[in-house]
Amino acid sequence: MGMDQTAVGCVMTRRRALACGAAAFAGASLRCNGSWIDSLLHLGDSEAPAEIFKGDAPDARLWAQWRERGWVREASHYLKLGANVQCKTCPNNCILEPGDRSHCRNKVNCDGTLYTMAYGNPCTFHVDPVEKKPLFHFHPGSRAFSLATSGCVFRCLNCQNWEISQKKPEETKDPSGPELRLLPSRLGSLTYEDMARVSLFPDDVVAVTKALACPSIAYTYSEPTAFYEYAFDTCKLARENGLMNIIVSCGSIEDRPLRDLAQFVDAAHVDLKGFDDETYRRLNSGKLQTILNTLKTYNEMGIWFEVINLVVPTYTDDLDSIRRMCGWLVDNLGPDRPLHFSRFMPQHKLDHLPPTPVDILVRARDAARAAGLRYVYIGNVREVADAGTTYCPGCRRPVIERDVFSVTSFLLDGGKCHFCGTPIAGVWAA
Ligand code: SF4
Repeated sequence: MGMDQTAVGCVMTRRRALACGAAAFAGASLRCNGSWIDSLLHLGDSEAPAEIFKGDAPDARLWAQWRERGWVREASHYLKLGANVQCKTCPNNCILEPGDRSHCRNKVNCDGTLYTMAYGNPCTFHVDPVEKKPLFHFHPGSRAFSLATSGCVFRCLNCQNWEISQKKPEETKDPSGPELRLLPSRLGSLTYEDMARVSLFPDDVVAVTKALACPSIAYTYSEPTAFYEYAFDTCKLARENGLMNIIVSCGSIEDRPLRDLAQFVDAAHVDLKGFDDETYRRLNSGKLQTILNTLKTYNEMGIWFEVINLVVPTYTDDLDSIRRMCGWLVDNLGPDRPLHFSRFMPQHKLDHLPPTPVDILVRARDAARAAGLRYVYIGNVREVADAGTTYCPGCRRPVIERDVFSVTSFLLDGGKCHFCGTPIAGVWAA
């Protein structure tokens, strides 16, 4: 899996985990979104607890500042095991003794309670076209207020946002200056230095999104599962205020928090990073089946989502594996699920690899179409003229054309092909 060189990593083995928490397992209490449930859950939920940061919780001074700023909240899904805790948000299932920090870097055990440090303190936010998520079949041409905190549940060797995803909250934010909340009146006057101390609580996010006339909020760039509590509260409030929510995720999340969050989600983009456990282990961490379960859950709940597959040379460019993946998508999600193949560019720990050859991406698209997928795209390329074109599955004419993230032609009438009337899958209403 490859913990960063700088990380204070520690593998908590099953034996050690049992030693520190087993006695409490028979009577463990499970916290699920604010309620405590007596639980008989045990370590068998995951094969091996994740690497954590041993004794790496903030010191008393920083912790006090963080709390005063409102950037600390009790976690929503976890088990109390005496003085120890087990997070139940993602399949890493981190087991933390007091003073330990989680695998995603955002959670700590303080005196037997699990807290997130990633609440109301995004390290980046922008207004993006929804096509940049990428979502091609969801309110095309609209804009999403997009935000992220530090942290991630994965360790992808190719991460393009590693400078925030592989950082602790206190490496991206600074609570030492005066408090600064981002209110709509402050838009446009924020300096680079302000970003480190600015707060953006759920009601601020809603107010700013409305002031910017964006119809949706995207939880993106790093991994929303790693800032679950912040994303959940913001999604809920946004829904109450008539805004839409877009989750951009690796899909590695436990079933209960996924279903809790999904009730407020309007669209999702899920990375399917490979199609076997070995690739996930070498390239990303995590397990394939968890991601497939997330895809099936979104499908079952009727939430619009699109799938992206980054084609990384020597890791995920095998066409047989791509064919198996496309077959699974058709069999389990149907032919109308959009699939985006994305071109790898050298970065992070894979900067020695070349960009994905364009002909591999075209062959992957051909294989996906041959498997029966109706809407297949190629991202991060300029060389393929119709890389972002939606073709009508009825008459085969182009009905939506795009230039990178801009819609240049839109020939749907009420969600149907302008030429032959065939319905085009997606969420098209204004
Ligand atoms: S969300 Fe973070 S703390 Fe929770 S199990 Fe996953 S990596 Fe661990």
